[in-house]
Amino acid sequence: MALRLPGRALWQASPRLATLSRVSTQAPRWTRSYAIPPLEENRTAIVTGSSRGIGKAIALRLANDGYDICINDVEANKSGCDEVVKEIEGLGRKAFAYTADVSNLNEVQGLVQASVSELGPLNTMIANAGISQVKALLDLTEQDLKRMFEVNVFGLYNCYSTAAKQMISQGGGGKILGAASIVAFKPFPLLSHYSASKFAVRGLTQAFAMEMATHKITVNAYAPGIVGTAMWDQIDEGLGELKGVKKGDTIKKYSEDLIALGRTSVPEDVSSTVSFLASKDSDYMTGQTIVIDGGIVFT
Ligand code: NAD
Repeated sequence: MALRLPGRALWQASPRLATLSRVSTQAPRWTRSYAIPPLEENRTAIVTGSSRGIGKAIALRLANDGYDICINDVEANKSGCDEVVKEIEGLGRKAFAYTADVSNLNEVQGLVQASVSELGPLNTMIANAGISQVKALLDLTEQDLKRMFEVNVFGLYNCYSTAAKQMISQGGGGKILGAASIVAFKPFPLLSHYSASKFAVRGLTQAFAMEMATHKITVNAYAPGIVGTAMWDQIDEGLGELKGVKKGDTIKKYSEDLIALGRTSVPEDVSSTVSFLASKDSDYMTGQTIVIDGGIVFT
């Protein structure tokens, strides 16, 4: 049987221990050198694909958290960007819109430069923009595959790498986040190239996390499930056409059959987790892809 002595008795019994400060027996305290400036200092974030849907919810949430925000989307969605800018200004934060196609590196470089000159040093990059497409594997064209990877993988790489270079030049670290999906863990049939592109997001996120750690930049991804946005309207319609069911029925059936919590997700389910991943509270996390899906995929 093990002999149990109270800690105080052991301490007093050992003359050598008694000469040491008590603190020295504990692990060194974690000295935090935060990537994100304290609240009273200026915090800035770029959110790509933020004229609507999950990106818009993230932009509004980060503005509420005290960030000034650069709103980005493609030129076709400029009016949506302008509306989000107005909403953020209404919250008392700075915001501006910069249209750029994330699949074009020059345009992403312009986006980061514009954000720095309008808002100040870049603390947080949210590589949220993405596209999906419903199509059977054997019907995919080379162009289908190319465009999916240009936006979801090259686009994310352009945002991660350009933001990282900017953060390294500033010193002081930063936070980089990207949009993955539950299909990065288990593909959905008829969304195969989309699923593969999101697997690549997880891979790039892990690799960037390792190489950016020395610069005090953390890199994580968020993986939503079935969120009721324009993207899922399009998936619902595409799956419905292929399976011969009417609009709205597929998302309803998937939500009922697949989601443990029993409801379709809303963008705010995702933006609250992104808020955490962008905050100091997640400073010891990097390379993770966090699932927010109401209980579909269990990691
Ligand atoms: P959404 O289609 O409503 O919004 C995406 C936005 O990205 C659009 O405004 C679009 O114009 C923009 N965008 C597309 N290509 C772009 C480009 N090349 N450059 C700049 N902007 C571009 O979709 P959402 O549901 O809000 O999805 C946001 C992200 O979350 C995407 O990456 C998506 O893959 C991911 N996601 C969504 C769901 C979901 O259920 N809706 C689930 C998992 C992951």
